[in-house]
Amino acid sequence: MIEVLEQGGHGVPDLTDRPLPQVDNVSSTYWSGAAQGALLFQQCPACGHRQFYPRAMCTACAADTEWKQALGRGTVHTFTVIRQNMASPWDRLLPYVVAIVELEEGPRMMSNITHCDVDDVRVDMPVECYAVAVEDGLAIPFWRPVQSERTERGRSA
Ligand SMILES: [Zn+2]
Repeated sequence: MIEVLEQGGHGVPDLTDRPLPQVDNVSSTYWSGAAQGALLFQQCPACGHRQFYPRAMCTACAADTEWKQALGRGTVHTFTVIRQNMASPWDRLLPYVVAIVELEEGPRMMSNITHCDVDDVRVDMPVECYAVAVEDGLAIPFWRPVQSERTERGRSA
């Protein structure tokens, strides 16, 4: 399970004024799962392929997929630090990290890395997922350094 946090708390993004996901019949299970503390991805019962983002069928063999719950742990596969963005509301968030996180289960997700200095983010850095509650049945997953790493950095600072 992943933590579901209220927006704007310590280090937690405030999503006011940000565009929200357009929930459809393919992705609604993913978003409502996150709101209940379950980070979900799709797995194909026919060929075993695992995929994210949610799609109507397996991208490897076109079979119907099943939802699986991820542990919510992964590593930074790649990332970039956004230092310039003149569009609101992103201008007030600078600088921020956009990363591709590889789940322990394999699929990769694009998200932000929070709860650390943007200059501390590294490829292969262990990260954990949490979700920010937006409204009833909708929460948005974000990633942060695993607890032990945050504590370690806090002590050395
Ligand atoms: Zn398949």
